[in-house]
Amino acid sequence: MDQERLVRLARQHAETSRLMGVDFVPSYRTGGDDEVEAAPDSPSEAPAVRMTEPPAVQAVASATIEPKPIAPAVGRSGKQAALDALRARYEKDAPHKNFVTAYTNIVWGDGDPDAKLMFIGEAPGEDEDREGKPFVGRSGQLLNKMIEAMGLSRETVYICNVLKTRPLNNATPTPTEIDACAPYLHEQVAIVRPGAIVTLGLPAAKAVLRCPATATMGALRSKWTTMNLPGNVQIPVMPTYHPAFLLRSYTPENRAKVWSDLQLVMERLGMKPREATPKSG
Ligand code: URA
Repeated sequence: MDQERLVRLARQHAETSRLMGVDFVPSYRTGGDDEVEAAPDSPSEAPAVRMTEPPAVQAVASATIEPKPIAPAVGRSGKQAALDALRARYEKDAPHKNFVTAYTNIVWGDGDPDAKLMFIGEAPGEDEDREGKPFVGRSGQLLNKMIEAMGLSRETVYICNVLKTRPLNNATPTPTEIDACAPYLHEQVAIVRPGAIVTLGLPAAKAVLRCPATATMGALRSKWTTMNLPGNVQIPVMPTYHPAFLLRSYTPENRAKVWSDLQLVMERLGMKPREATPKSG
């Protein structure tokens, strides 16, 4: 185990102890389990750290990330300008400065700032870090296929992550990291103001919905939930599996589940799929 990783583990342990001595469970991603499915692209199944917390801790954490109300940006160019200003503020604040990251580039977001549909992942992986764009690695290629099966293109949706910098070893973001970055994500959503959000993987769903740490993807997916923004703005959210999970468990059953979640989204947005079922392979 290298020194940076040890430091990260020690920090997490300290944070956990501070948060009322909750259970601390270092674990390795195994795939195939919907509790641990949301790793960013991590071809070598890089070791990850998972922390379990009781719901009370989550409630305390969520209380600390009330997003600031912002005036709605109007039109594509207005939204782009607002996103650029928010990114500049993010870069100045650098909320990631206290994390252990392996970042080269900030991975802010990609696509149409006026999109009707927004996808939110967990954190950039190695490819995303190198290119400075979300979902450009293997998971991104599968996400592109999912988007195309919906009859859309990558350019017509907006894609971003909860964390804007790559965690060391693609580790699952800690609650502290999520809390530090969530206000920027909330503002990003408030600017784009999509008709629906699809969260990819359990950590993204938990970060967006602030649901208890015990929530499982099996319980969250296939149901609409709401992201509440200041000014009584409510955005419908459909949690589904992360493409990295699908890549690891590319079974007809898992693909059918994701496709059925995406169909609910298309129905809600009044869209027609490009074809009745996604292509295999
Ligand atoms: N996984 C994510 O969650 N986000 C990315 O951008 C890439 C992989």
